[in-house]
This record gives sequence, structure tokens and C-alpha cells, in this order.
Amino acid sequence: MNLLLYNLFPDRLNLYGDRGNVIALQKRCEWRGIHLMIADIKSTNDMNLSSVDIIFIGGGSDREQGLITTELLKIKNDFKFCVEDGISCLAICGGYQLLGSYYVTSEGTIHRGMEICDFHSTAQKDRQVGNILIETKEFGSVVGFENHSGRTYHSYKPLGKVIKGYGNNGEDGTEGLIYHNVIGTYLHGPILPKNPSITDHIIAASLERKYGKKELIELDDSQEYEAKQHAEKICLTL
Ligand code: GLN
Repeated sequence: MNLLLYNLFPDRLNLYGDRGNVIALQKRCEWRGIHLMIADIKSTNDMNLSSVDIIFIGGGSDREQGLITTELLKIKNDFKFCVEDGISCLAICGGYQLLGSYYVTSEGTIHRGMEICDFHSTAQKDRQVGNILIETKEFGSVVGFENHSGRTYHSYKPLGKVIKGYGNNGEDGTEGLIYHNVIGTYLHGPILPKNPSITDHIIAASLERKYGKKELIELDDSQEYEAKQHAEKICLTL
């Protein structure tokens, strides 16, 4: 089985180890005999969304987000079509914000988003920084690292409930968003290596969409869970 992943603008959107998410997906596919091809997308001219299975968008500074919004707007209709068709997408922090309608920086600059979901984000002067622990229905506890000035409020299903940290806005106790097979989250870290159930969910959902099959061979995740437990402990004691 073959899957194709687009890593959108990794030269601009790649903070706090975000690329590790792509490596985690590739490794967990490889260990099961699934070939995950990775295309680093630097221009929307190189994209053919009808042949892609997983879209990854990392985080970026306000400046870097501003550099790629014009490119992203060129694909927003095709992207939306794929999302409604069940494509798997993981978007982190700055990438997550750009799934909405717009992001207003603390200087008042407006970065237009792709309007995949109906929400927007607004930055405050202070940043929300630190290790974060959330509890999710689908994936159990999830650990990561956050560093953002943007606050996001939405009425979609959140990825989880904040146990320690800030999440979407530091106020309503929610973190991230789930819409069809799209996961948006403020969690860098990177999120996937330490939270393999999310990685496997993304792989399974894309296999189901492409091949109608989603059973995955079980892997030994003892090291991943040890890393997660360690991060959880640090989160709860600091
Ligand atoms: N620039 C955005 C913010 O500060 C996103 C930052 C990030 O991706 N870590 O909110």
C-alpha cells in the first residue's frame, strides 16, 4: 500500500520540531510495510490535491504565516473539497490558525486563512508558552509544547480538554479542533512521536479513504509511552 503526504511549506512552517510529525508518520507506516511518500511543497504549482492522502501543516511565526497566505489562498477551494471528502490533515499552531477565516496578529495585521472551518484567531500581546497536557476522548492523554500569541475560539468539537497549559485560548479549557479527518492543534513538541494513537488514527483514516481498509498491525509502543509518561510527569510537576 502507498500513501502520499504533502508537507506544506516546510521552509516557512516548521517550529519546535514540527517535522518530527512527518517522520513519525513515515516510520509507523514503514514498520507496517506501508510506503508513505513525502512531498515537501514550496509552491502550490507543485500540488495535485486529487492524488494526496495526508496533508501536514506546521506552525510558524506571524511573519512566516504572512509569507505563505497568498499561496494557500490559491488552493482553498480544492482543499475544502478534499476535507469534505475525508482527507486526513494535521495542522499545528500557525497552520491550525490558517484553517480558519483569518488570524489577526498583535500588531493588527490580518492574515487570511483558507476558511476550511468557520473560526478565526486573534493575538494578544502576551504569549501562551509551556508544556501542555490535554485529555482526549479518542486518544487518551496527549502531551506537547505550545508557544503562541493567537487565541482561537470555535464551536467545533475540540481535540481535548486542557489539564495543564493554555490550549485554544487559555480561557474555555478546550484544545484544538476535530472536523471530519482534520485535526488542528496548538501542540508542537512534536505531537505525533509521543502520542502514537493520533499518528495511527491519521494513517488508518487515510488508508480507509484510499483502500477502504483501516486495520493496522499493532506495534510495540512501550518507548513512545515511556516518553509520554515522562513528559506528562514534567508537565504536572512544573
Ligand atoms: N504566529 C502564531 C502565534 O503566535 C503561531 C505560532 C506558532 O505556530 N507557534 O499565535
